[in-house]
Amino acid sequence: MSLCINPNCQNPDNPDNLLRCQSCGSELLLEGRYRVTRLLSDQGGYGDIYEIRDRSGIAKVLKVLRGCLKSRESCKKALSVYAVNR
Ligand SMILES: [Zn+2]
Repeated sequence: MSLCINPNCQNPDNPDNLLRCQSCGSELLLEGRYRVTRLLSDQGGYGDIYEIRDRSGIAKVLKVLRGCLKSRESCKKALSVYAVNR
C-alpha cells in the first residue's frame, strides 16, 4: 500500500506499483525513493507524521509540515525524514 500525502486527495490509498496517485496525480515515490506506508499521527500541531519505507524496506518517519503543499519549493523544505531508532 502506498499512501498519497496530498491533504486534499479524495482517495489516498494506492497500490504499491504506481508512481503517481491514481486519484490526484501526486507523486507517491518521495525523493525518488520513499513510499508512504501509513499515517502515524495527524494530531501534531505542526504537521502530520507518516511511516515510510525505502526500497530496501527500512522504515523511517516522515514529518510533513502544514502548508507544505502550497508550493513545491516550500514542500521540499518541509519534508523531513528521520531514521527510526529501535
Ligand atoms: Zn492523491
